[in-house]
Amino acid sequence: MAITDKIYVKNHRQLASQLETSFPKSAFAGATLDLLFTGNSLANLDSTTQDRVLDFAEDFLDCDCKAHPYCGCAERKFIQYLLELRAQGFGPDAIVDVMGDDYMLYAYSGDILSFLDQSVRTLEAAEALAKTEADRSRSQELSEAKRELTNG
Ligand SMILES: [Zn+2]
Repeated sequence: MAITDKIYVKNHRQLASQLETSFPKSAFAGATLDLLFTGNSLANLDSTTQDRVLDFAEDFLDCDCKAHPYCGCAERKFIQYLLELRAQGFGPDAIVDVMGDDYMLYAYSGDILSFLDQSVRTLEAAEALAKTEADRSRSQELSEAKRELTNG
């Protein structure tokens, strides 16, 4: 399961009642994206929630792909967002707090932790591969990316 399958809408029940409908808790579920980001749902949400939903749409759902919002761009951008927070020195708990403030989303910090671990392992594998290919600059780049993720 991708980390984006484990990102949830905060105040889910409250939102569902404002919208007078039910939708999945998972933020990146197709039905959630459809409901919150297409159609007229926004008007039924309180203004704080509207702002967060709009921010999310602006930051992650701004592509022009035909398959939008099912093209995968949102998930890719969100993963980038998580890695950037880590590179800025945020730990898993702090990352969960930030996504709550930014977009009214939440995740379990344990899931964020395993995602970050996995990302570092992926970088390590890529780094090792780049070394064997004598691709120095690529290897250096990856090593720097890894340092950003691990030092915090
Ligand atoms: Zn796209």
